[in-house]
Amino acid sequence: EMPECGHRPAAYEGSSYEQILKTRRDHLTPNLLAHFKKPLVIHTGHMQWLYDHEGRRYLDMFGGIVTVSVGHCHPKVNQALSEQTAKLWHTTNIYMHPKIHEYAERLVAKFPGKLKSVCFVNSGSEANDLAMLMARLHTGNQDILSFRNAYHGMSPYTMGLTAHSTWRFPLPGVNNGLVHVMNPDPYQGIWGGSACRDSPVQTTRDCQCREGCQAGDAYYNELEETFKYSLPRGKVAAMFAESIQGVGGTVQFPKGYLKRAAALVRANGGIFVADEVQTGFGRTGDHFWGFEGHDYVPDIVTMAKGIGNGFPLAAVVTTPEIAASLGQALHFNTYGGNPMASAVGIAVLDVIEEEQLQRNSLEVGTYFLKGLAELQQRFEIVGDVRGKGLMIGVELVGNREKRTPLATPHVLEIWEKCKDLGVLFGRGGLHGNVLRIKPPMCINRADAKFAVDVLARAITESLPKNS
Ligand code: PMP
Repeated sequence: EMPECGHRPAAYEGSSYEQILKTRRDHLTPNLLAHFKKPLVIHTGHMQWLYDHEGRRYLDMFGGIVTVSVGHCHPKVNQALSEQTAKLWHTTNIYMHPKIHEYAERLVAKFPGKLKSVCFVNSGSEANDLAMLMARLHTGNQDILSFRNAYHGMSPYTMGLTAHSTWRFPLPGVNNGLVHVMNPDPYQGIWGGSACRDSPVQTTRDCQCREGCQAGDAYYNELEETFKYSLPRGKVAAMFAESIQGVGGTVQFPKGYLKRAAALVRANGGIFVADEVQTGFGRTGDHFWGFEGHDYVPDIVTMAKGIGNGFPLAAVVTTPEIAASLGQALHFNTYGGNPMASAVGIAVLDVIEEEQLQRNSLEVGTYFLKGLAELQQRFEIVGDVRGKGLMIGVELVGNREKRTPLATPHVLEIWEKCKDLGVLFGRGGLHGNVLRIKPPMCINRADAKFAVDVLARAITESLPKNS
C-alpha cells in the first residue's frame, strides 16, 4: 500500500535517474559513502519505508544512519514543524524564544543527577567539539582519550578523536593532545577474541553478561598503563566513549568496563564524556540513554541523529559547573536549537513517549536478535550477532574459528542483494563486514521477520560461487 505522506512518483519531479547519477559524478565531491552498484535514488519515505524512483518500496533498516528515530515523515513531527514554520523560523540566541526554553526543560528532564545544562548545536561533530572544549576549559588539562575504533565526528578536532583508520586524513596537528586506547572489543579485539572463546555459543552477547570477564580486565589494565605512561602532556581532560560503538560495527564493551574507566579518569583529574549520538533516545531499549546500561553517570553527554529524526539538531548536556567553563569566552553557533529545531525536538520526545518506542525497541529488538541468532546457527559466515534494542550488528566472517572478516566483494554482494529484495541494511566495522541494523524505532515483528528472511535468502544465494 502507498504511504500517507509519500506518493509514487508517476514521472520525475526534476531530474531523471540517469541525470541524478551524472550530477553526482560530475558535480558532487567524491567523498560520499560507497554506494550500491546500482545506486539508489530515494524519492519519498513513510515511517519505516522508503520509495525509490520507480516507486519500489524498501524496509529501511538503517534509518538514515541511525537518525530517523520515530519514522520517516512521522505525521506528528511533520505537523509540529509546519506549525512552527508558519510562526517563526529563526531567531538568535541573543533573544529568547519560548520553544527553545520548553525544549531545554523537556530534554534535561531526561537526565539524572546534575546533568541539567544544555547547549544546542547542529551536528554530532559539533557537539563533540564543544564537549572537548568544555572538558579542557573545565579541568585545565589538555589530554583526551578515545578508543581506536571510535567514531566521534569529522570536524578538525573530532577527526582526531575518530580513530578508525577508514576515516583518517593526514592533517597536521590532528592528534594534538589525543590518545587512542585499545578498543575493548570482545569479538575482534586483541584480547577479546581469545578470552571469550570459552563461551558455549561464540557470540559477544554472552560475553556481555559476565561481570569481570577476562577480556574486560585486560583492557582495563591497559588503560591504567596508559594513564601511568602514555599521556601526551601528563594530565587528562576527558575520555570519550560511545555507549555501543556504532560506525565501528555495533561493538559492545565488556560489562563494567566503562564504569571502571570513568572512575579511573576522574581519579586522574579528568571528566567522562558519553557520546550518545547513536545510542540515545531509547534506541537500546533497556534504557533511554546507552550509558545507563553501563551503570555510570557521565559528566557530559553529547547527542545528535535520533534527537531530530533527520532535522539538523544536536546537543551537549552537562552539569552547571562544567557548563560555567564556557563563560571564559563567547561561544556561539547560529542555528543550534532554533525554533524549528526545538519544535521538532519536542515532537520527537512526545512521539517516543506516546508510542512507547523505547519499549518497542526492546521488544522488537529482542525478537530480531533471536531470529538473527538462528541465522548464526545456520550459516558459518554469520560469525557474531550482537547489540540490544534496535542497535544490532551482524558480523560476517570468512572463517568462524579465526573470526576473519568476510571478503569485501562477498559482503557487498549480500548487502546489495538485500537491497534488491527490499531491505536496506547499513554496513560498518573496521573491515566493513558488519551489517548494521538501526531502523526507525516504529518497526514491528513482521518487519524484523521480513528482514531476517531476506538476509537468509541473500546469504543462501551468495554462497555457491563464493564458498
Ligand atoms: N558520534 C557518533 C557516535 C556518530 O556515529 C557520529 C556520526 N556517524 C558522530 C558522532 C558525528 O555526527 P555528525 O555526522 O552529525 O557530525
